[in-house]
Amino acid sequence: MRFDILTIFPKIFDSYLDQSILKRAQAKKIIEIHVHDIRTYSKQSHKKVDDIPYGGGAGMVMTPEPIYDAIKAVKKLNKGRVIYFSPRGDLLTQQGAEKYAEELVGKSGKKFSTSKKGFILLCGRYEGIDERIIDLVVDEELSIGKYVLTGGEIPAMTFVDCVSRLIPGVLGKEESHLNDSFSKALKRKKEYPHYTRPRVFKNKKVPDVLFSGNHKDIEQWRNQHLK
Ligand code: SAM
Repeated sequence: MRFDILTIFPKIFDSYLDQSILKRAQAKKIIEIHVHDIRTYSKQSHKKVDDIPYGGGAGMVMTPEPIYDAIKAVKKLNKGRVIYFSPRGDLLTQQGAEKYAEELVGKSGKKFSTSKKGFILLCGRYEGIDERIIDLVVDEELSIGKYVLTGGEIPAMTFVDCVSRLIPGVLGKEESHLNDSFSKALKRKKEYPHYTRPRVFKNKKVPDVLFSGNHKDIEQWRNQHLK
């Protein structure tokens, strides 16, 4: 399965997506991440991709032609939906991420789909993109929170990260996401506190129940500490 990211700042993705779990998942060919520079599709001089807004106002708007052409080209490689990141979009949640991951791997969680299956992720900049792109080729608008970032690149990385870690084989321990915050197992609540060595740190002790060896008591304690 693949994520195709469309951006005018492709270098932003070099560091984050090439580290740790996501790096390993790509090396294991469980996921593919392809970053495309929208600017290369611009037919204007100096590869311009923005212009002043009709009706006036501050800021620039991303022009439709290069985005349209970029999406058209990428659709030949990826048959998935086009998601545009925008503060006005539907809020991305853990439950939403589960649904996106399920779309890629199927309900059983075992069968991998073809490599043409995935998502096309469009990152805006400036005041955003020309609305006609949303009308013509965007399938969904997603927000990562009620605040405004300078671009859609962090939202795209957030999407790739939270969806990928739900795909079987991406995390070291297959089931380790099952008890995360907002998971079904934790009744969509925030998870319980974690402790590791040392047993006492700056006079703060690890709760005794965690040394009891009694799994029922530990589970009960953890359930009581969900928020
Ligand atoms: N004028 C827009 C508004 O008021 O909603 C803000 C544009 S923002 C400066 C530039 C780009 O960043 C957006 O087109 C979008 O792709 C991305 N962006 C900013 N905040 C976001 C958020 N909370 N969720 C998803 N994308 C966001």
